[in-house]
Amino acid sequence: MRIDLHTHSTASDGTQSPGDVMAAAVAAGLDVIALTDHDSAAGWSEAAAAAAALGVALVPGMEISTKLDGAGVHLLAYLPDPTFQPFDAELSRILAGREGRLKVMIEQLRAAGLDLTVADVLAQVGLAPAIGRPHIADAMIAKGIVASRDQAFGHWLSVGMPGYVERYATALTEMIGLVNAAGGVAVIAHPWGRGSRRVLDADTVADLKEAGLAGIEVYHQDHSPDDRMQLRALAADLDLIVTGSSDFHGDGKVDHDLACNLTPDDQLERLLTAAAASAKKSGRRTPPVVGL
Ligand code: AMP
Ligand code: ZN
Ligand code: FE
Ligand code: FE
Repeated sequence: MRIDLHTHSTASDGTQSPGDVMAAAVAAGLDVIALTDHDSAAGWSEAAAAAAALGVALVPGMEISTKLDGAGVHLLAYLPDPTFQPFDAELSRILAGREGRLKVMIEQLRAAGLDLTVADVLAQVGLAPAIGRPHIADAMIAKGIVASRDQAFGHWLSVGMPGYVERYATALTEMIGLVNAAGGVAVIAHPWGRGSRRVLDADTVADLKEAGLAGIEVYHQDHSPDDRMQLRALAADLDLIVTGSSDFHGDGKVDHDLACNLTPDDQLERLLTAAAASAKKSGRRTPPVVGL
């Protein structure tokens, strides 16, 4: 089977609606896709309806912003109950932090000479509850300031640049606990991508497994062939699930086409077994996998 377990839609900073992402999944020959918008389940229902109609299997998930030792770590949560109050409250805090920093980022960019307003950015956000730097990039493209999201990040939005502002993120270990308590499965996204690599050595990942981490994303564009080999060995040592994905963002991110990395069949099996166990242990009403 062709399985892609990490994608984004307009329910966060992807450029295609959840339904269009499902259609694109079929066009890319995928059998199973996970929709994992940032910090929100807002895209799930549209995606589930489209996936059922189109005959592709959907694993509902999200990619949550967390922090470890001052570094940002993205945590994939598969099949959690988004109505579990402590989990929902923490996601709301993260979303509020995203909104709060927007004004500051615009002030800084204006001070650096750009003609850009909060309204310009909000015009790009659509239905996304998770406002991110890619939306600012889209506003800069609309105003003719840059030609692409990549250019916006390269000149204005990355750490140390005029448009960068920190935002709230939950402590990683706390979020792993919340995902499990919500009946979901926790998998670290691109662990050795920019930013998180320095804080995620083998000993730390072993500690996180003790805290309830179920897997790591190994097959991802942020990882070199050598990274993938080392991460696979680490996962084998710690008996962690190994996933792979495109981290698709529509045309918002180059070199992240659907299905460019895949999750092995047996690893999806393990993930679904872990999800069933987590749902049972938590007693939460977790969402169904569509079409499997
Ligand atoms: P934020 O959520 O505001 O912290 O912005 C981070 C998001 O921007 C990431 O999750 C990526 O989806 C996206 N991103 C980061 N770098 C780039 C880039 N060079 N081009 C396009 N999107 C990017
Ligand atoms: Zn994103
Ligand atoms: Fe990420
Ligand atoms: Fe992502």
